[in-house]
Amino acid sequence: MESIFVLTHADESGVALTRASLEAVTAGMELAARLSATLKIGIVAADPQPLSKGLPGAVLAVAGPAFAQPRFASDAAACEALCRAAEASIVLAPGSSRFARVMAAVAHRVGGVIDTHITALGGEAAVEATRWFYRQRIEAVVTRTARPWFLLLDAGTHMACAGEGANATVEIVPVNLPSLRTEVTGIRAPRQDEQTIRPDAKLLFVAGAGWTKKQPDGQMHTDEAGKLIHGFLRLSGASLGSSKSLVDQGGEGHSVLPFLTHLNQIGQTGSTPRHPKGLSTCCHGEEPHVVGWRFIGERRAISLDPNCGWTRGKADVVYIADAFQVMAKVNERLAKS
Ligand SMILES: Cc1cc2nc3c(=O)[nH]c(=O)nc-3n(C[C@H](O)[C@H](O)[C@H](O)COP(=O)(O)OP(=O)(O)OC[C@H]3O[C@@H](n4cnc5c(N)ncnc54)[C@H](O)[C@@H]3O)c2cc1C
Repeated sequence: MESIFVLTHADESGVALTRASLEAVTAGMELAARLSATLKIGIVAADPQPLSKGLPGAVLAVAGPAFAQPRFASDAAACEALCRAAEASIVLAPGSSRFARVMAAVAHRVGGVIDTHITALGGEAAVEATRWFYRQRIEAVVTRTARPWFLLLDAGTHMACAGEGANATVEIVPVNLPSLRTEVTGIRAPRQDEQTIRPDAKLLFVAGAGWTKKQPDGQMHTDEAGKLIHGFLRLSGASLGSSKSLVDQGGEGHSVLPFLTHLNQIGQTGSTPRHPKGLSTCCHGEEPHVVGWRFIGERRAISLDPNCGWTRGKADVVYIADAFQVMAKVNERLAKS
């Protein structure tokens, strides 16, 4: 019989679990219910007690200032100690940068195996883990007999646990910390409104190459495009995606939007984000781009071209209109509201 252990960690504030951790808890609850397995939750945090509120199952945790910030040596030691204490056959964890960095080492230390980028867990008698290969072209269902089996879950694939369970008592697990050579002295990060890739955003806003092309007046309006896009991102909190053509222009010495990098690229050779809604602007909607929209729920596009790819069944609504004009009006309304 399987036993499930869900590893979680605190967010940057230290006073809450990350959303991806809470999603992993939901995955653990669903799997435990389906397999009639036991469920335990593990917490890596400086002060885990308040974070355990409402979690289902027994809670094991490490505590202390060493676990306030991500660091390989302390996080690996913490997860190893928790896994040894939990003695579970299946270990679920969020595929966050903090855990992705340590979990393969933890699996190795406890003699287990690991699979990453899991998007779904199924199976009635045995655990079946689903993941994509080859840039989302092949979906595979993986089963293993080796235990413990670690599964790193992709964010956005489960509902976050609402924390409505009875308050569990937290068992603090001692950790033998190795000598810590790395000291985290602080975090340098761009201001929130400078970060254009926001995986938790409800909306994906895609900018295509049309923003930097000659417009009906025969001129390019790149500065205006930059202001409109930046303004929309600031007012809406949307995440910024781009077509390949637009980000490639920078390398080719053409006029570009300064805040775009290849990390923003969506598509076959870019990313495949998960947002409930998407709005494409000045983008043609060619197949190598649109395959990156596989997990976007509701799709809308603004294009001057009535024959663009979006009008051929790839979007729910297409506005045949000038995106400069439309986005100026949208920003005006957002600013008022
Ligand atoms: C192997 C391979 C892999 C690829 N991988 C990717 C990938 O990962 N991601 C990707 O994006 N592409 C990828 N591509 C390229 C892809 O095929 C297209 O070339 C690219 O997506 C086109 O970008 P675009 O639609 O922004 O530009 P364009 O094709 O130049 O389209 C610009 C659009 O903007 C519209 N427009 C212009 N001005 C306005 C305005 N004022 N208002 C509204 N609309 C306006 C035009 O009508 C036009 O439809 C790949 C291609 C290959 C061969």
